[in-house]
Amino acid sequence: MIKIKKRKFLLLPGDGIGPEVIGQVKRIINWFNKNKSLDFEIDEELVGGAAYDKHGTPITDEVFYKALESEAVILGAVGGPKWDNLEFSKKPERALLKLRKELKLFANLRPAICFKQLVDASSLKPELVSNLDIMFVRELTGGIYFGEPRGIKPIDNGERKGINTHVYTTSEIERVARVAFDLARKRNNKVTSCEKSNVMEAGQLWKEEVQAIHEKEYKDVELNHMLADNCAMQLVRNPKQFDVIVTDNLFGDMLSDEAAMLTGSLGLLPSASLGSKDKDGNMRSLYEPVHGSAPDIAGKGTANPIATILSFGMALRYSLDLDKEADTLEKAVQDVLDEGLRTKDILSKGTKEVSTSEMGDAIISKLQ
Ligand code: NAD
Repeated sequence: MIKIKKRKFLLLPGDGIGPEVIGQVKRIINWFNKNKSLDFEIDEELVGGAAYDKHGTPITDEVFYKALESEAVILGAVGGPKWDNLEFSKKPERALLKLRKELKLFANLRPAICFKQLVDASSLKPELVSNLDIMFVRELTGGIYFGEPRGIKPIDNGERKGINTHVYTTSEIERVARVAFDLARKRNNKVTSCEKSNVMEAGQLWKEEVQAIHEKEYKDVELNHMLADNCAMQLVRNPKQFDVIVTDNLFGDMLSDEAAMLTGSLGLLPSASLGSKDKDGNMRSLYEPVHGSAPDIAGKGTANPIATILSFGMALRYSLDLDKEADTLEKAVQDVLDEGLRTKDILSKGTKEVSTSEMGDAIISKLQ
């Protein structure tokens, strides 16, 4: 059993723009260490295509064990056209799936926040999205992406059959529901649970178990149940009705991407994947931007580092309980946006274009 080391971060820059955006996070961690007398220990390793090029595997055992003993892993992004044709087990994305699965990171938190400075980037009317703040809690290690049996099999008539199994147990549903209810208590105290209980037994179980845990432990939190297809509609009709949305792996994948796009700015969206607390109260976790490795702009110095910097902010809040430091960092990002500094992806009339490292400079100067 590998013990988690307090305040140890493992940085995994990965591929494409990953190293550029993680570079800015490294500067911010160093700033906190120097100016706030925090003693974060950082280690940095290869993952994804970069690890495959050097070691022939997307994640080595050594790096995997370092992830196991870290309090938080902070990842840039993995993948790119160079590795698209590798066999399945060698693909860069396998590293990410292995980390999520083996670190037992069952709760994926994805905030969909529409910064008031960027409402025009959304495809919805400004009044629908201005100050939008939804927290998605997606179940990440169960459901149809992992259920057995699975595979592609030949059948008698010469055709083939593709099989995936949608399966959940009581404890898998309870633990992710608790994460959602606990988060709601720190926000606007409202949870919407989404499934397809009208057509799927696993969805019916999901609804019943969320309701049961609510009645037993969280009566003070408002709970609504909503069919996942209705939730998809409500997200574009009236997204501000939501506070915390909890849902399974498949629906969470889609609904959180839909909500992310309401904010119009992929380069600004962070995420956290959390495991259970051990008996000492320590928890394994992985923080990463929602975006990918953006091969089209890699190496140009134009990538937006804010999603990755806000992911580090989530690490301060959820892994280290440093709410004050997380607030300071989020405020610094807001201040820079208020000043009209923008990387290319969020540039608009009347704002000033800055590079990846200039955005890092500006955020650090606001921290001062
Ligand atoms: P992507 O998110 O990498 O890029 C989509 C578009 O958004 C591109 O035009 C890109 O330039 C832009 N973009 C993304 N992040 C940006 C940022 N921080 N600043 C400025 N612009 C940004 O998605 P994709 O193009 O579908 O995928 C590219 C590669 O990334 C693929 O190999 C894919 O498998 C991988 N991917 C990895 C992850 C991950 O590591 N978690 C997630 C998604 C995609």
